[in-house]
Amino acid sequence: MSVLSDLVAALESGSVRVVDLTAPLQPETPVIQLPPQFGASPGLTLDVISRYDEAGPAWYWNTLHLGEHTGTHFDAPIHWITGRDLPGNATDTIAPRLFVGPACVVDVTAESGRDPDYLLQPPRLLEWEREHGRIPARAWVFMRTGWARRVTPEAFFNGGHTPGIGLEGARFLAGERDVLGVGVETVGTDAGIAGGFSPPFPNHTTMHGAGKFGLTSLCNLDQLPAVGAVVVAAPLKIVGGSGSPVRAIALVGG
Ligand code: MN
Repeated sequence: MSVLSDLVAALESGSVRVVDLTAPLQPETPVIQLPPQFGASPGLTLDVISRYDEAGPAWYWNTLHLGEHTGTHFDAPIHWITGRDLPGNATDTIAPRLFVGPACVVDVTAESGRDPDYLLQPPRLLEWEREHGRIPARAWVFMRTGWARRVTPEAFFNGGHTPGIGLEGARFLAGERDVLGVGVETVGTDAGIAGGFSPPFPNHTTMHGAGKFGLTSLCNLDQLPAVGAVVVAAPLKIVGGSGSPVRAIALVGG
């Protein structure tokens, strides 16, 4: 038996489950909202080309129009100015090996519930490591906040007050743990008020400057163990793309 045939058998028996970490992608899917002086990233528009009608009697298909960073999506290093000159920094040039990796899930639901501006920082990460072991290289670190349960735009955006990764937390994960990147349930990996931080958007600045990635608008993190899940998250191969919607999934053992 090989590892892969064992995996196929485990999927068939149900001893390995596939958890969908992806939010529904539809016109109502929330997108990040920036101050009006900046360009806005559009949400999804979906136009029917044909639906078994005169425009296509036997076939149904749609045209998509959307920003790269819409819904559950992948942030590539080229997304940020700090990562613009790195090798392998765009959706088409990232090594595909990096689209598969283990997940470390840090549950800060309680902290984020108490303080919607909560920042994930090294003391909390070190506390997690004392319980679950060292965060391995090329792992995703997922910040579980419970934000995916906020289904109305008002609750999801929360007046701009949403949790994120702090500067020192980002430096620790990128520099001392060599992670793949960080994933969040909110619309961005930085806190909602992080545009006013120094540097602005410290997680984007740090992670992408180190060639690391981001995943946002994740769902179902409560179905993952703290350690042991394997995540597959591959962006569309947009040439020179800064990111893309993804169907992020996790393999979870029994
Ligand atoms: Mn993004």
